[in-house]
Amino acid sequence: MKTYAKMSRLYAPTLKEDPADAELASHRLLLRAGMIRKGASGLYSYLPLAWLSIAKIKSIIREEMEAIDAQEMQVPILTDAALWHQSGRWEVYGPELMRIDDRHDHPYALGPTHEESFTDLVRNELRSYKQLPVTLYQIQDKFRDELRPRFGLMRGREFIMKDAYSFSATQESLQECYDQEKDAYARICERAGLRALPVVADSGQIGGDTSVEFMALADSGEAELVYCDSCGFAADTEAAASVIDIPEGPGSGELEKVATPVEGTLEALASFLGVEQGACRKSVALVAEDGGLVLALLPGDHELNDVKAEHAFGHYAMMSANELERAGLVAGYMGPIGASKDLRIVADVSLKGSVRWTIGANEEGFHYLSARPGRDFEVDEWLDLAGAREGDGCPRCGAPLKSARGIEVSQVFQLGTKYSEAMGATFADEDGRERPFLMGCYGIGVSRMLAAVVEQHHDGQGICWPVSVAPYEVEIVPLDVNDDLVWPAAVDLAERLSQAGIEVVLDDRKERPGVKFADADLMGFPFQVVCGKRAVKAGNAELKVRETGERSDVALDELVELLAERVKSQRI
Ligand code: ATP
Ligand code: MG
Repeated sequence: MKTYAKMSRLYAPTLKEDPADAELASHRLLLRAGMIRKGASGLYSYLPLAWLSIAKIKSIIREEMEAIDAQEMQVPILTDAALWHQSGRWEVYGPELMRIDDRHDHPYALGPTHEESFTDLVRNELRSYKQLPVTLYQIQDKFRDELRPRFGLMRGREFIMKDAYSFSATQESLQECYDQEKDAYARICERAGLRALPVVADSGQIGGDTSVEFMALADSGEAELVYCDSCGFAADTEAAASVIDIPEGPGSGELEKVATPVEGTLEALASFLGVEQGACRKSVALVAEDGGLVLALLPGDHELNDVKAEHAFGHYAMMSANELERAGLVAGYMGPIGASKDLRIVADVSLKGSVRWTIGANEEGFHYLSARPGRDFEVDEWLDLAGAREGDGCPRCGAPLKSARGIEVSQVFQLGTKYSEAMGATFADEDGRERPFLMGCYGIGVSRMLAAVVEQHHDGQGICWPVSVAPYEVEIVPLDVNDDLVWPAAVDLAERLSQAGIEVVLDDRKERPGVKFADADLMGFPFQVVCGKRAVKAGNAELKVRETGERSDVALDELVELLAERVKSQRI
């Protein structure tokens, strides 16, 4: 029979003060609530409370995987370098791959992901199209020698991942496996209490997506996103080709040079001219990887996106004073007119069609109004360069985009034949021909997911666990364990609740009420039942819902039924 846990016995060493180097709420609160401890940079121990939550995340994953016929198994963490040579990733992976030699000087890597291992596993034994598709997965520690391990569980060097690999005979079958995993990942996020957006990580040749990242929305997230409430579109700002509204600039339509005696920001220029910032052009002077000098022109209210720029120019740098001079550009008043002939002029695609550009005149204190591409200067290339931002139009439906930050908790990917071809993993098709498997891979950061849940569910006092992943569902807080009314009532509640299948922890410590309340809020179990003398005498206890702070007096003999119902309905 399942019984309740006692706070006095729980290994959950709480901290009164905020740990010095913990910037993120999840990092700080998981440390303070006695749930994780750092061993070394990027290496964490999961203490009992965290491990209970991790177990729940794993079981949500397992249920969702079972529903789509994915089978759980395990491959070794240590992987033979020979496999990485076959896939070509031994070199490609770089310093993130943790490499080890055994006593015979044979090289290995600690798996950062396991495409090679799973491809190797099936390549000699999954022989016929009749056996396909097959999806295999594991939940296991992964190792990555991250450049900057940080934020506690968010970016560790050893972390828990669920990784799945599908093997199909046809593209249709791969698509089906991929869609099933993608749908399962959406459900897993939802069940774990995460508000997450599926963000297209790249789009396939045939229109659909071939990789999606699930981003848990959080201000602390590393990814910058734009999304559309109308049609569900979501993308990284660097991947989104948003629709940018370009207001026309001032002027008569004829090229006109005007004095602009303002300090060199676009904001100051726009306000001096009495126009929106978007009506002016931003000029970014850079040197492409091949050494070429480039002037990139953008809507004045948008930034050059780094990833898009890398795409267009390779590893680029901003122009030095010397290079500006060579290009015929005057800092603060840059523009294409009057610049050197060798300067490559590129402009953001959103500007195509705009005919009255406000741009620098390459002369201190002057700008041109109504400069017109094709008439007053040439644009060599129109490129997608501007980072999408809030208010831009959705590329799918045109509605205004919203912006948010996100934490990547999982990713699904159609690999195609990349690994099966490189590693010679084939099956016999209907006509007996050997063909490489079409593969998909699907990863969830289990430990990162725990941190993401805390990022979305906390307040100034501590964590507010959703029931589905809470270490315990109910905490009973007897205010005085020596009181011969309060204590027996609390124990009786704990017993009856656990008999009803609820996970209970009883704060049996001889601590002051203030200490107990603070710890209860910090650890953040979803429901608190406070047993004080006055309430118990009246046949009641106080029920507090951690996340909302809502409190109510409930009769002791109704409490078990009421809580059992509320808890079970929220377990999902
Ligand atoms: P990131 O861009 O954050 O480095 P990734 O795209 O390299 O992640 P994947 O290879 O897609 O990560 O791994 C699958 C999942 O594993 C990720 O979605 C993420 O949730 C998790 N993950 C990846 N790296 C780490 C890490 N260093 N610590 C914790 N979780 C991680
Ligand atoms: Mg990823």
